[in-house]
Order: sequence, then structure tokens, then C-alpha cells
Amino acid sequence: MILGLIEHDRGKLNDLSLEMLTFGRRLAAQLGVPLEAILVGEVARPLTDRVRAFGVSTVHLARHERLDDYAPGAWAQCVIEVIAATRPQVVMAAGSDRGNEVMAHIAARMNLPLAANCTEVTPGDAYLVTRLRWGGSLLEEARLKGEVKLLTVAPQAIQAEEAVPAGAVAINAFTPALADKDFRARVLGRVEPAAGKVSLAEAKVVVGGGRGVGSADGFKALEELANLLGGAVGCSRAVTSLGWRPHLDQIGQTGTRIAPEIYIACGVSGAIQHMVGAKGSKRILAINTDPEAPIVTKADYAIIGDLNEVVPAISAEITKLRR
Ligand SMILES: Cc1cc2nc3c(=O)[nH]c(=O)nc-3n(C[C@H](O)[C@H](O)[C@H](O)COP(=O)(O)OP(=O)(O)OC[C@H]3O[C@@H](n4cnc5c(N)ncnc54)[C@H](O)[C@@H]3O)c2cc1C
Repeated sequence: MILGLIEHDRGKLNDLSLEMLTFGRRLAAQLGVPLEAILVGEVARPLTDRVRAFGVSTVHLARHERLDDYAPGAWAQCVIEVIAATRPQVVMAAGSDRGNEVMAHIAARMNLPLAANCTEVTPGDAYLVTRLRWGGSLLEEARLKGEVKLLTVAPQAIQAEEAVPAGAVAINAFTPALADKDFRARVLGRVEPAAGKVSLAEAKVVVGGGRGVGSADGFKALEELANLLGGAVGCSRAVTSLGWRPHLDQIGQTGTRIAPEIYIACGVSGAIQHMVGAKGSKRILAINTDPEAPIVTKADYAIIGDLNEVVPAISAEITKLRR
């Protein structure tokens, strides 16, 4: 059996789990075994039907009063209990921050190897896996051994596709034995985007600013352009380190991964750690004074110029056209 951990945030599904289930279903067909899933927390029960559509035959639902929010150790404990009861060949999760985090806990506690961010898997005595390394800048081939194979599926490695036909789903509700130690890391507070604002991860247009913006105040022009385009403002780590914007706005390896129709990068050099978070963008427009800046070479369009002139000029032109 293949067991997939479904990621959700207080009941809101992370769609990367649907890519993972599609990946898992294909592997299950190759192995001739069923695909099952685990949902953590009663709050996730409504996702059962969505998961069924992706070919899951059994959902293991962990119910416990302390599972109303994310806690990696507790989630890992729930999965470990299902592993002990069902002995799956493979356990997988999405290659997201949370998916990788929970799987790392499971690997450490069960002393099993984990292959994170896989794009391909060929079963055998040892599984041959291809996985993304160094923030996606290189592909590695590795062999994965172990009684239970633990892996995560790299985002966008596969398109999510429902199963045709999708069968019935059985629910196996259970109460995990959770202790205080399972909650050593847990959510204590949240910083939500201001009401009515588009979130960076979901925005169709992102206007990003780097050190070249010059100051926190300099972002006002970027805010104006983003508002005109119905988009969100993001930034580089140099900007968050300088305290000009909150970490919530950071794009990159240690920030948010964006996937807009267009990313307008203003005064951003395009360091690899930044581009890891921006590579889901359909198009990139770079505005930079330096024609040699790495982002200029990676962008679809570039304006070589001072952002303090270019950004207000674009906003003024949009406003004029809309009159
Ligand atoms: C482990 C690790 C993780 C990291 N994670 C991230 C991450 O998640 N996200 C991230 O962004 N970085 C990350 N970094 C940092 C990254 O390496 C870069 O240092 C950072 O992205 C640089 O930010 P920047 O492009 O704003 O600044 P700079 O590299 O200083 O670039 C500023 C750019 O602005 C241009 N410019 C200056 N003035 C103007 C002007 N008036 N008009 C137009 N253009 C102008 C310059 O030509 C230059 O290209 C990470 C680094 C490490 C080591």
C-alpha cells in the first residue's frame, strides 16, 4: 500500500497534496497496490471527498482534541501509528515546507532514509529516485532503501489529475497517543495578510522590490503599481534584513514561492536564493540599472533604468489609459 499525507492548514487543503496523490496513484498502479491517505485532525474530515476523487481507497483520520492546528511532531506521530498498523511500502507527502518537515520527523524517529523533493521514482529492491537539490538548480539521482520508503514529491513535478473512475472511500478514524513532547513545536500565533489584500503566493501579479528600492518609503511606488494591477508586493531578503518589509513579503528559498502571470522585479539582483522562489512566474519583467544583473539575463523583458523613474511612469501610463 502507498500512504499519502494530506497537507492542510486548519482544514484548508494545500493543492500540492493533489499532485502528490497523482504521483502516488501512478506508483501504486505500477506496484499493483492501493493508494491510501492520512488526514490529521477532525477539522480535515471534509477533505475526504476531494481525496477520494484522486483514487484514494481508505482515509485514515487522526482525531484528537489537540490536532486543531499544525504541529510537526504530532503529525509525525499520527503517520507513524498508521505505518505501524498498516505497513505501507511507501509513505509520501508534498515537497512543501510542512510536508518535508513532518517527513523528516518520521524519518528521524523511525530511523529510515527520506528522499525529499522527488521528480521521478522507479521502484525496485532499492528505489531509483530523481530529486531536486540546491533549491532546484540541479537534479540528483539516488537510491532509496529501507523497509518503508519515505519520500516527498517536488512541487510542479506532475500535474494534479483526478482518477477516472474514482472509487468509494472507507474512513478509518483513530485516536493517536499524543504526548506533550509531540507539541514542542506548534503554532503560537499567525501573521495574516491584511484583509482584502491578495496573498503573495496566490497573486496573479507580483511587484517585487530589492535593495535597489533604497528605503521602506520607496516601496510606496511599488504598492501603487501593485494596487493598479490587482497584485501583491513582495521583496528580497536584503529588504527584510534591512527591516523595510516584513518576512511575510519575502520571495525566495527562505520566503514565499510565487507563481504569478507576471513578476515585476524592481531593483532586485536575482540571486539564486531569490530566483528559487520566483521561478514559478510565467513571465518576469526586470527593472534594473545594471544590464548585467543576473535577473536581467533570466527575465522575459527588462527595462534598464532607475526604478524611481520607471515605476511611477508605468503607474501614470496605466492610470492615463484607464481614464
Ligand atoms: C541560505 C540563504 C538563503 C537566502 N534566501 C533568500 C530568499 O529567500 N530570498 C532572497 O531574496 N534572498 C535570499 N538570500 C539572499 C540572496 O543571496 C541575496 O543576497 C539577496 O537576494 C539580494 O537581495 P537584492 O537583490 O535585493 O540586493 P542586491 O543583490 O544588493 O541587488 C540590488 C539590485 O538593485 C539594482 N539597483 C540599485 N539601484 C537601483 C535603482 N535605482 N533602480 C533599479 N535598480 C537598482 C542593482 O543593480 C542590483 O541589481 C539568501 C541567502 C542565503 C545565503
